[in-house]
Amino acid sequence: MRNFPVPYPDELVYSMVARAGIYHGITSPKQLLDEVFENRKVIATLDLPCHLQSISSLFQNTGRYSVEELVYQHTLFPLYAPFVTESHKSRALQMMAGRSQGAVHLMLGVAASRIQSSDRFRYCPECIKNQHQHYGEYFWQRNWFFPGLAVCPEHGPLSILTNGSGSHRHHFFAMTPQSPVDCELSSVNEELLRLAIYANKFLNMSPGYSPDFEQWTSFYRDLASDFGFCRGRHINHGEIHERVHACFHPSTLTQLNLYTDSATETGWLKGIFRKHRKAFSYLEHAIIWQSFIAELEPEDVIDRVRKIKPCTKVVFENTASSTLSKNNEHLQVQRQTWQKLVLQYGVLNARNSRPGKALYAWLYRNDKCWLMAFNFEHKEQRTNPELKADWHRRDLVAIRQLRKLLQEIAPSYAGPRLSANFLLCKLQQSSTIEKNLDKLPLVRMFLQRYTETITEYQIRRLTNTCAEMQRQGEPLKKWLVMRKAGLSQERLRPDAQTVLNELQLF
Ligand SMILES: [Zn+2]
Repeated sequence: MRNFPVPYPDELVYSMVARAGIYHGITSPKQLLDEVFENRKVIATLDLPCHLQSISSLFQNTGRYSVEELVYQHTLFPLYAPFVTESHKSRALQMMAGRSQGAVHLMLGVAASRIQSSDRFRYCPECIKNQHQHYGEYFWQRNWFFPGLAVCPEHGPLSILTNGSGSHRHHFFAMTPQSPVDCELSSVNEELLRLAIYANKFLNMSPGYSPDFEQWTSFYRDLASDFGFCRGRHINHGEIHERVHACFHPSTLTQLNLYTDSATETGWLKGIFRKHRKAFSYLEHAIIWQSFIAELEPEDVIDRVRKIKPCTKVVFENTASSTLSKNNEHLQVQRQTWQKLVLQYGVLNARNSRPGKALYAWLYRNDKCWLMAFNFEHKEQRTNPELKADWHRRDLVAIRQLRKLLQEIAPSYAGPRLSANFLLCKLQQSSTIEKNLDKLPLVRMFLQRYTETITEYQIRRLTNTCAEMQRQGEPLKKWLVMRKAGLSQERLRPDAQTVLNELQLF
């Protein structure tokens, strides 16, 4: 097909195909499939479409819209990508370029998730006014289709069509405003709107390497520990539950199908703080991040998880054990050859070697995510000799970063406990520093002096909360102060208890 419509910002691929039908006056769904895909079996999919190589090649002359660009900017893939393993993610990407027969949804955990994506068409009555004004036509915008969350991040309620869905196998429907009689308005509260704004940030994150399950496991364990919710290796799920419920009303959680009782052993909220064996959905992650570390941007949180002890071994095991189809056997051989070269010569020398040059170019074209991640992990050790032994210099660099960090933290700081772990995570090469503290006397001294004990942390939360409530003119009731501060009577340290008594709250 010539003159395939160029996508609008945030327009779903589904919508582009539908507009192509209108532009070319094609009324028969089969003819549209023939013209666009040269394949009548393509299934119309709103969220995670396939056959994107065909769409991408329609843009050949523009020099833009690679499969990757389409996937990351015109489908809901970015809502899933950071939370599945790297091997599942790359496999899903490959399938979206070609055929999938439903396997993409399985691969990204959509099918098994508590959060079901709805096929019903929905749109934001306010957004479409803007569309009409700016572009003179309408299109399906991807941030109207957050799975399990019918909220426009900009305006709130969405019109959901009572009849009509995107699951007509081969039919692409163009966006047209409906009469209010044919729609129902989704119900929205402030908490749901906050989640939608967050989800929109997930959509617009730049592509990156997906953390593995071990990294997620450590991240949540550290988070619990930063908030003083750990006793040794034991996590106090009751306290976590309390904190999440202080931020989200039970009715909101019920509406999201994510309500859990603190007594249930198998709920998602307990599961996510245990050893990760499966991917959790963007909403489950978002609810916890908003309850614990709302001041951080989602992209920064994921970056932090990526930096947790990059566990090379696990990455290889995952890749090796992933079910690679026959087509992928060649890919596997190429990966192994590259691994051998790098382990023998280092990344830079491997790239410059005779067999390495062509191999690097091939992997760059066909398996970029894996290649970048593998090289990144081997770069530090192999190609940075000047930094390798210079611990004194590292000590100075790290201490400068730590001082700056401390200056940036406002006196009214309301975030997690300033534990050694929390501060170290913010450093470049944090895991190297963490592992070699014995060689870094300045950093060690800094941490001894400036990290917050649990008691100090509790007192800070108490005083900040009281100050904030006083500013807002709220009565300082003891139970309310405790709830807002995220503290509970049982785990209050003796000195924090003394401060609390001295405040003489009622
Ligand atoms: Zn809107």
